[in-house]
Amino acid sequence: MELPSGFISKETWNKVLNYIALSDEEPPYLLMDKKIVQDKVSIIGKNIRNSRVFYAVKANPDIEVIKLVNPLGVGFEIASEGELQLLASINVEPERIITSNPVKTFKFLEQAVEYGVKYYAYDSFAEVDKLARYAPGSNVYVRLTVPNEGSEWPLSKKFGVETDEALDLLVYAKDKGLNPVGITFHVGSQCNNVYNWNAAVDKARELWEMAEQKGIKLSMLNIGGGYPIRYTKNVPDIETIEKKVDKVIFQKFPQDIEVFIEPGRAMVGDAGVFVSTVIGKTKRGDENWLHIDVGVFNGLMESVGGIKYTYVVGSRNDPMAWTIAGPSCDSFDVIDREVELPEPEVGNRILILSSGAYTISYASEFNGFSIPKTILI
Ligand SMILES: *Cc1c(COP(=O)(O)O)cnc(C)c1O
Repeated sequence: MELPSGFISKETWNKVLNYIALSDEEPPYLLMDKKIVQDKVSIIGKNIRNSRVFYAVKANPDIEVIKLVNPLGVGFEIASEGELQLLASINVEPERIITSNPVKTFKFLEQAVEYGVKYYAYDSFAEVDKLARYAPGSNVYVRLTVPNEGSEWPLSKKFGVETDEALDLLVYAKDKGLNPVGITFHVGSQCNNVYNWNAAVDKARELWEMAEQKGIKLSMLNIGGGYPIRYTKNVPDIETIEKKVDKVIFQKFPQDIEVFIEPGRAMVGDAGVFVSTVIGKTKRGDENWLHIDVGVFNGLMESVGGIKYTYVVGSRNDPMAWTIAGPSCDSFDVIDREVELPEPEVGNRILILSSGAYTISYASEFNGFSIPKTILI
């Protein structure tokens, strides 16, 4: 099998091929290269002053991944009691945990407070009431809506409020005895548009000043996630994004501002290679279909939202266009169309690159297919 250029290193590729050759593990499974994750930890946040990184656990909550990044000093962003229990199982200090889910379940909130988590996002008056009751005195930050254009997985349609309402929410939180410390936003996941961060920081600055005029002195800006990885197309690199973000923040905000970053996808996505098997092929109408043993329900859910993966097969035939489908007996289980790929044989391996984020964490056992294992290499 040949590695397409612009993806993982030759070193990682060799590790993957070695694992496949030597292991008797049955595909499908997800291989995660530890070195790539460790490298990402050292890159993310490096070019933003006064920054702290909180890994958004939902991207890949595999306990071995958590254990890998935990000693490297990153914090964690969580949203549920399950994610909290995962961190508690390896004794992550509460000071390193934040929750940016603007609407939390009662059970999660109670457990997070009991554990000692002190940072909570919100974007509604009802959530302030809930926080005031269950997490009195805690540090809260309001979620602002910001442009999500150019993000492949927009998040602005669910959470966030406009500036005026955000101001009212900061004031309301203070009146209710909470400690409003800052502002958060999310530019959208897999954000290819560097200017989204500029627009978002500008908008946050406006709110920051309005809050100051109301006697609320903020100290923290949480820029959320959104750093992209390469699936098929080139993306801006993290260093470029961070240098721009650092520049706008430190031009416009107090120099002692604290910056939180919550990378999910960028921390783990390109460390992952899915190992799958071709289980069938056929021609339906004038489309060539390739059926593989990982699909929309057991790992590649994001394909439905438009994420296009890069596939690698060992065949040396001329490339042709394929419709690629997963193993379930459901017509929704189509991963991609018009994928150029040399024709493989049924039974051959097919590898899916950049599949370490939002794959296993989305997987279900629909139709009786088990959730693929995650294996760190
Ligand atoms: C999912 C999520 C993230 C991570 O986003 P990525 O685009 O994967 O980096 C960060 N913050 C919040 C609040 C999220 O919900």
